[in-house]
Amino acid sequence: MTFPIIGVVGGGQLARMMAPAAAALGFELQVLAESAEVCAVPVVAKAPVGDYRDLEALREFARGVDVLTFDHEHVPTGHLRTLIAEGVNVQPRPDALVNAQDKLVMRAAIAELGLPNPEWAAVDSPAGIVGFGDRHGWPVVLKMPRGGYDGKGVRVLHSAAQAQDTGDWFAAMSPLLVEEMVDFSRELSALIARTPSGEARAWPVAESIQVAGVCDEVIAPAPGILPQVAAAAQAAALQIADALGVTGVMAAELFETPGRAPGFLVNELAMRPHNTGHWTMDGAVTGQFEQHLRAVLDLPLGDTAALGGIVVMKNILGGANADLFAAYPAALAAEPTAKVHSYGKSVRPGRKIAHVNVIGSAHDDVAAVRARATTAATIIRDGK
Ligand code: ADP
Repeated sequence: MTFPIIGVVGGGQLARMMAPAAAALGFELQVLAESAEVCAVPVVAKAPVGDYRDLEALREFARGVDVLTFDHEHVPTGHLRTLIAEGVNVQPRPDALVNAQDKLVMRAAIAELGLPNPEWAAVDSPAGIVGFGDRHGWPVVLKMPRGGYDGKGVRVLHSAAQAQDTGDWFAAMSPLLVEEMVDFSRELSALIARTPSGEARAWPVAESIQVAGVCDEVIAPAPGILPQVAAAAQAAALQIADALGVTGVMAAELFETPGRAPGFLVNELAMRPHNTGHWTMDGAVTGQFEQHLRAVLDLPLGDTAALGGIVVMKNILGGANADLFAAYPAALAAEPTAKVHSYGKSVRPGRKIAHVNVIGSAHDDVAAVRARATTAATIIRDGK
C-alpha cells in the first residue's frame, strides 16, 4: 500500500470532518486527541491521546505519519521547528502558522504586504489605549493577541475611563492589540488553499453572519458583492498565502467597507479548514476538508466552483434539545434539501454541535434558501 497516513493534531469537529474526505481518497487519518472523548475519535483509524503542548507526545504521534497537520492553531511553534529539524513533514509550517496564532504578528504581516488593515497598534498600558483612542476616535476594540476565539479575547472600549479599567487584561498578556472600531457593512470570508509547491485556489468569497461573536450563518457567494471587491478579496488571500508560505486551507476573515478602498479590511487569518468554509462540503466541487488533505499532501488541488446558485450554511449551537437524533425525522421531513452534519458531541448551551447546508438553485432567492437552512437547524436545536 502506498496510500499516505495523515496525522491531525487535535480531535475536534474539523478533524472529524476530514475523515470522510480521507476515506474517499483512500488515505488513513489519525488524530492526536486531547482526550478519548473528543468527537473525531470514533471516526478515525487511530487516535492516541496526548497533549499538543508536549513535545514528546507530538514526536511519538508524528513518527507514524506522512504529514502532520492541524485541527487548531495552538501547537507551540518551537515544538514544530524541532519536529521539522527531525525530519517531520509539518503543514502548514510554523512561520506561516504564527500569523494565525498571534494577531500582532498578523497585523504587521498584513501591513508589510500593503494590504488593508484597520488602524491598529500594540499597546502595553491603559495609557497606550487612551492615546490610540484620542488619535483614531472612540470606541476602540481591544484584543488579546493570542488565545482568543469566538469573540472571547475581544473587548469594545467606549471611553478613556473604560480604557483605564483594563488592568486585568494587561496582567494576563502584554502587549495587547488595539484597533479602530470598524464601521463595516458585513463580514466576509475569503477561503483559499495552497500546496507546498505553490499551487493555490480560491473559493467564491462568502458572507458570514456572527451572533454574539460566534459564526451563525454563511451565505456563498456573498450576495450582491461587487465583482471587483470579490476579486480583490480573493487576490489578497492568495497573496497572503503566497507571501507567508501557507499550506492547506486558509480563511481570511474580512470586514466589508464600501467606500473605503479596496472595499474590505483584513480582520484575521485561520490556517486550517474554517467554519466559514463548511458550505463547501456540499456546495462546491471540492470541499474544504478534501482540499486541505490534498494541499498538505502536495497533490493537485480540486476545482473550487460553487454548485447551484446560492449556498447557505447554518450553524447549530447547543440549545433546548439534548437528543439531536430524536429531532431528525421532523427536520429531514421539513427540509429534504438540507444536508445535516453532526459533530457527535454532547449538547451544551452555545457549543457548536452541528451545521446544516442547503444548496439553492440559480432561480431561488437568498431569503428562501436561508429560511430552509434555518428551519432544519432550528428543529434540530430545539427538538421541534
Ligand atoms: P476571534 O479571534 O475571537 O474570532 P475576532 O478578531 O474575529 O476575534 O473578533 C470577533 C468579532 O468581533 C468579529 O467577528 C467582529 O464582529 C468583531 N470585531 C473584531 N474586531 C473588530 C474591529 N476592529 N471593529 C469592529 N468589530 C470588530
